[in-house]
Amino acid sequence: HPSKLPNIGTTIFTTVGNLARKHNAIDLSQGFPNFEADNRLLDLVSKAMHDGHNQYAPMPGYYGLRDVISQKIETLHGHSYHPESEITVTVGATQAIFTAITAFVHPNDEVIVLKPAYDCYEPAIALNGGVPVYLELKAPSFAVDWTAFKNLISPKTKMVIINTPHNPSGRIFSRGDMLQLQEVLRRTNILLLSDEVYEHIVFDGQQHESASRFKDLASRSFICASFGKTFHVTGWKMGYCAAPKHLMDEFRKVHQFNVFSVDHPTQRAMAEYLNTKEHYTHLNRFYQEKRDFFTKGVDGSRFICKPSQGTYFQLLDYSNITDEADTDFAKRLITDYKLASIPISSFNLNNRDDKVLRFCFAKKEETLERALDILQGI
Ligand code: PMP
Ligand code: GLN
Repeated sequence: HPSKLPNIGTTIFTTVGNLARKHNAIDLSQGFPNFEADNRLLDLVSKAMHDGHNQYAPMPGYYGLRDVISQKIETLHGHSYHPESEITVTVGATQAIFTAITAFVHPNDEVIVLKPAYDCYEPAIALNGGVPVYLELKAPSFAVDWTAFKNLISPKTKMVIINTPHNPSGRIFSRGDMLQLQEVLRRTNILLLSDEVYEHIVFDGQQHESASRFKDLASRSFICASFGKTFHVTGWKMGYCAAPKHLMDEFRKVHQFNVFSVDHPTQRAMAEYLNTKEHYTHLNRFYQEKRDFFTKGVDGSRFICKPSQGTYFQLLDYSNITDEADTDFAKRLITDYKLASIPISSFNLNNRDDKVLRFCFAKKEETLERALDILQGI
């Protein structure tokens, strides 16, 4: 049978993770914390199970959870999404992204993607017969050239995908970026998929500029978010999508036959936990301390480091060390030095090689210390 995804292999996160385990390497590759979530949150899941919430949740999600999500967005960004019709709880941001694309992208529709790009966008576009149209963000700033962006728009453009804070670069969109985007999309029917999974991990006192803060963007946007990143529970695979009713109606047509509904006891627990704002507002500081620890630790090594503005990733430029391709150097770091990272060419960069690796600093201090010792010795 002909493959529907002839150019897609196993994701880099699986490949590198397996290699790291085989060589017993310190794993700063795939993005996940190696410390535990708050005990209170874990207890709330157990309580929800013992309270008998073990059957199907409502199709769009437990109402109490959609309600607190709606309040959270309104408090932080001043935009009101109706919990009944404009918020759906999903199996992580991955399913939110896949569902939004599937619900709207028809064969031959174009979808503008900024690359380096997180790896789940392209397969979702391709499976629906869409055509990804890439705008390259150039290292080391990864800034968007909005004139070049505007030139990519055609009568076939159905959707634009943005990701802020951006994986893997750690760059965040400024208010100026969002206003430029809003201006380019004004008076078009183009949809916006805004991947905001790192919304609560922004550094140096900067502000996360959610698409929901901009009226004309919000009216055409799917905001995709992930509790995994915010509450140190990536394995729970829970997130949500917020969008205006006319878009969410179509989104739910796909959602109900793809997953129908999401793990119920976890939704109950999350609803109660989210009532305490500090659980997510303290996260910027928590991760900034880790970023600072990691970047200061890299000082004096041969790696070039421009501190990340958001996410729990840090890019390191190794061009002072070797000419090797990033995939080869990443492999050698695992086999010879026992340290795993992600080569950023795997974020849809094809043959472009910036000589940059991505390191995840969502790790215990002792893990980061061991990794820094290795980096200092290279
Ligand atoms: N988008 C980006 C940019 C991500 O980094 C991730 C997680 N690595 C996701 C989406 C997927 O999130 P989830 O694990 O909640 O499906
Ligand atoms: N988002 C995680 C990362 O960028 C990976 C999640 C996954 O493996 N799909 O590392």
